[in-house]
Amino acid sequence: MMLGSDVSGLTTTPANAAAQGLSIVVPVYNEAAGLNELHERLSTLARRLRQHFRLSSEVVYVDDGSTDRTLEIARGLKADVLDVQVVSLSRNFGKEAALIAGLDHARRGAVMFMDGDGQHPPEFVEQLVSHWIEGGYDVVYTAKANRDNESILRRLSVHGFYALINWGARQKIPEDAGDFRLLSPRAAAALRQLPERNRFFKGLASWIGFRQIRVDYEPAPREHGVSTFNFVRLLGLSIEGLTSFSVAPLRFASLLGVLLASAAFLFGLSILWEVFTTGKQVPGYPSLVVGLMTIGGVQLIMIGIVGEYIGKILSELKARPIYFVAEHSAKQCEGEAEAAHQANERTAAE
Ligand code: UDP
Ligand code: MG
Repeated sequence: MMLGSDVSGLTTTPANAAAQGLSIVVPVYNEAAGLNELHERLSTLARRLRQHFRLSSEVVYVDDGSTDRTLEIARGLKADVLDVQVVSLSRNFGKEAALIAGLDHARRGAVMFMDGDGQHPPEFVEQLVSHWIEGGYDVVYTAKANRDNESILRRLSVHGFYALINWGARQKIPEDAGDFRLLSPRAAAALRQLPERNRFFKGLASWIGFRQIRVDYEPAPREHGVSTFNFVRLLGLSIEGLTSFSVAPLRFASLLGVLLASAAFLFGLSILWEVFTTGKQVPGYPSLVVGLMTIGGVQLIMIGIVGEYIGKILSELKARPIYFVAEHSAKQCEGEAEAAHQANERTAAE
């Protein structure tokens, strides 16, 4: 019985890359206003990928329960240069679930993830693809070139978050890596095999290993509307990421417990010392109250942390599906259909 997993059969070489192809997964939630334009840009990209790398591509739009005309527009998109799949989820499940739905439906080898709001420029993808095909990298992830326009508070919290999640980790998650990334066929296959339901995508994509490379890019401003990720959602995502990925908070809890207990022990010793050397009774109220409050507060926090993990165990145990697909359509691009048709005729003639 093999306890690991062997994905070496999917290794990319310059010779087989064209046959492996590329799936572009785009989660869309209320992106009706920009979808047509995005599809235009993706079509141009597909054309260039075909010219430069003889790579055929498909795009998988995952409609994450949009309330505007996103689905309607997506249904009408043409498959001129690339195959188009539209996967419509039964309700809004959140971006992480939409990404997984896209990964599950991708039919080509390599998988590219990008946002549907135009912030991840399709023109940039060619460079990422060349790292995969020509450079032989498996995970090509992007990071924001600079965070100058973000507040100090935000930058500090991001820094703290990664420091905590990477604490003692063998495979560090790179700071400020985004969801805009390319996975080679074997890396995508590895990611598909992870059985957990609570997935912290960025973390897992780095945890799988293989040859990884970071590429800096300048995200474009959002083309319309506002970001759906406000402070509270980001905080939720961070807690989700931390608890589904690392046991650092639990370790932190035990460490704090040990620290507090040692402090209390030393304090006790110092009182004893004082009583024995000076002979006077030490008044106890203030220290007692401070001690009680500290211990009480810390215990509550720690119970909360443990509770987060118990919640995680519960949701893994329930094993509910991560998403439901309400509607699915796939269009083959005409060039492809023609080629497939010819290939069929050829095999029929033989
Ligand atoms: N998105 C989604 N489901 C959601 C929220 C967002 O599929 O519940 C998609 C959204 O359509 C976009 C991407 O996830 O393509 C990133 O969302 P957004 O631009 O709001 O986040 P930010 O760019 O601020 O990270
Ligand atoms: Mg965005």
